[in-house]
Amino acid sequence: MSEPEETSRETLRRACLQAMGIPRYRLRDRVEAEPVAVGEEVPPVEEAPARPQDGAGDAVARMDWQALEAAVAGCRACGLCKTRRNTVFGVGDRSAGLMIVGEAPGAEEDRKGEPFVGRAGMLLDNMLAALGLQRQQVYIANILKCRPPGNRNPSVEETAACAPYLQRQIELVAPRMILAVGGVAAHNLLATEESVGRLRGRAHLLPGGSREVLVTYHPAYLLRRPEEKAKAWADLQLLARRLRG
Ligand code: SF4
Repeated sequence: MSEPEETSRETLRRACLQAMGIPRYRLRDRVEAEPVAVGEEVPPVEEAPARPQDGAGDAVARMDWQALEAAVAGCRACGLCKTRRNTVFGVGDRSAGLMIVGEAPGAEEDRKGEPFVGRAGMLLDNMLAALGLQRQQVYIANILKCRPPGNRNPSVEETAACAPYLQRQIELVAPRMILAVGGVAAHNLLATEESVGRLRGRAHLLPGGSREVLVTYHPAYLLRRPEEKAKAWADLQLLARRLRG
């Protein structure tokens, strides 16, 4: 790489770190202690245990985008349909190489019908910018399409009822990589109860498939715990290396 290219790459890197709110001293201090450091070899993929197929999702598994969107908009498969204002289907490039999977709509998402808006959404945008990507270049969806009242954690019944929709979205997008943000997304995608802290830093395989999943912290968590942003930055670097192949 030439010197001007190196300089402009470093300038971009600093801008991304600043946008994510990561002081440079903190990045250096924290990332060195992490399992995956900058420039380290990419660790091997870990396969999650297979999960039984849900027969109730058979019809959903055959839907195209239009039918799927309509099915979600009219869905009454769990009690969250009674309290939602809007369903939050998903946004972005439907043939993206990277898919972001979050937890469930919050109050603002419920109002707007779009995932990751508000402060957490802005931080996600900055995280994507750190990868050189804009929101429209990835596909973003949640485990749940309707907001749990009071932003409580989704129940097992709710995630099971909603799972076929996300499964179909993943099949239709067919992304090269999935980034699970937060524990609820990681636990449901990978059928595990391990903490985000233990799941991050290595690649996993979606149960029953060959798609790679990386795990990082949810932007809303990072807003509450900014000292963890350096770990998210390390996760993004691992993701960038995986995407580069
Ligand atoms: S959360 Fe999912 S399963 Fe429940 S009503 Fe909404 S779309 Fe249907």
